[in-house]
Amino acid sequence: VWIVPNLLFNRVAFIGIGLIGSSMAKRMLKEGMAKELVACSRSSDTRQKALDLGLVSKTYEDPAKAVKGADLVVIATPVGSYSDIAQSIASVIDLNTIITDVGSVKKAVVDSVKPYLQFPNKFVPGHPIAGTEFSGPEAGFSELFEGRWTILTPDMQTDEEAVNKIICMWEGMGSKVEIMSSEHHDMVLAITSHLPHLIAYTIVGTATELEEDLRREVMKYSASGFRDFTRIAASDPIMWRDIFLNNKEATLDVLQRFSEDLTVLQKAIRRSDGEALEDLFSRTRAVRRDILEL
Ligand code: NAP
Repeated sequence: VWIVPNLLFNRVAFIGIGLIGSSMAKRMLKEGMAKELVACSRSSDTRQKALDLGLVSKTYEDPAKAVKGADLVVIATPVGSYSDIAQSIASVIDLNTIITDVGSVKKAVVDSVKPYLQFPNKFVPGHPIAGTEFSGPEAGFSELFEGRWTILTPDMQTDEEAVNKIICMWEGMGSKVEIMSSEHHDMVLAITSHLPHLIAYTIVGTATELEEDLRREVMKYSASGFRDFTRIAASDPIMWRDIFLNNKEATLDVLQRFSEDLTVLQKAIRRSDGEALEDLFSRTRAVRRDILEL
């Protein structure tokens, strides 16, 4: 009998096979982590692409049909769709099925999935801190998670064996794994990811409101500053709509702090307080150095 050392699952069902789902599928195939991969997606176009790319062997329109017989279900759709998905798969999931997800917010995800599950202790919420501004199955690549963090937010009731299996899966995909509470995750991500996206959306939005001539010049002379923001602001609109709607509290909290700090900067400029500006810019430069070292 051949024993495949990396084999973790028999049948993995992806609900949503876009950038994240397809990257996971590619890496799972490469590592031989599962005997069979299947996927559910709304549009026939995405289902066909997933088959053409050789990511999965079968596709389904109905989530309930996709998860039948799966020992791992990965929810990888925008978080606003989670509650409907949880309701439609709940009755088909059995005791041996582990459910995980990749959503960018965690508290709202737990609240919209767990109440519907017959075996909520088998739900291991997760979030790979890796991505690009591109979407869809053709955007995925197997190295996406290499060297990046994945945060898992199980609670006291979560089955330990299920958590360990999900840790093995992410480590097998090259990721480093950290465990924290869903509330803490949402606060950390509000600062490191959600606020920067909101700022980028605002800056690029402001530029598009400018009168025609000025706007053309912004595009023409966009150097690294504006250009970097446009990359972030090109991220998927639906995904980011759902992130802000589902991480309201933490986002509004960091946004309040940000507005206060912005007012301080405004005041420093008005008063020609060069010392205050230089002091802040030196501190922020040190943050960049620390991040690169990390
Ligand atoms: P994506 O490339 O846009 O793919 C989304 C997938 O979900 C597609 O298969 C899509 O199906 C399906 N879907 C969309 N809306 C749906 C709905 N209402 N009901 C059922 N299925 C639906 O998205 P992604 O970037 O992989 O993101 C997926 C999840 O990962 C999100 O929760 C996001 O927060 C999280 N995440 C994203 C990143 C990132 O940088 N992109 C990073 C970390 C985590 P159709 O194409 O058939 O419509």
